[in-house]
Amino acid sequence: MTSVPPPRFAADVMLGKTAKWLRMLGVDTFYDNKANDADLQTLCLREVRVLLTKDVALHAAMPAGTSRLVEAVHPREQLREIVSAFHLDRSALPPRCSLCNGELAAIEKEMVGELVPPYVFRTQDLFQRCSQCHKIYWQGTHLGKINKFIENIRKFSG
Ligand SMILES: [Zn+2]
Repeated sequence: MTSVPPPRFAADVMLGKTAKWLRMLGVDTFYDNKANDADLQTLCLREVRVLLTKDVALHAAMPAGTSRLVEAVHPREQLREIVSAFHLDRSALPPRCSLCNGELAAIEKEMVGELVPPYVFRTQDLFQRCSQCHKIYWQGTHLGKINKFIENIRKFSG
């Protein structure tokens, strides 16, 4: 495992889907579709986040090294571009909440009986809960899907 921690990001309004995927990869990614350019600039400098943007002017307005102009058009390709550019494929981080960027923590199966569909409760044993918005995750949902997707990225970038 590499000793360099992955950067923290903030994504502009054009990159909502990609931001969710980055979170599922475990990368700390700020995203708020109501944040304007000035908000994003201030946040990135204050919290030492790299701004991911599709906006040439906004990218140009950021200090060197504090933003990346994302070139790919489709979210899937954008994710591939970012993973490759920042070597995120080499980090194995615990996933974060796709909704709010909160950290996930394991939760006992007994605790989620009322909170997940009966079929899920019957078929799944490992659950995680967002520490901030309390959304429940399990392997069969998108955690499984994102793992598969990352495997594919690794194959192509390897
Ligand atoms: Zn959450």
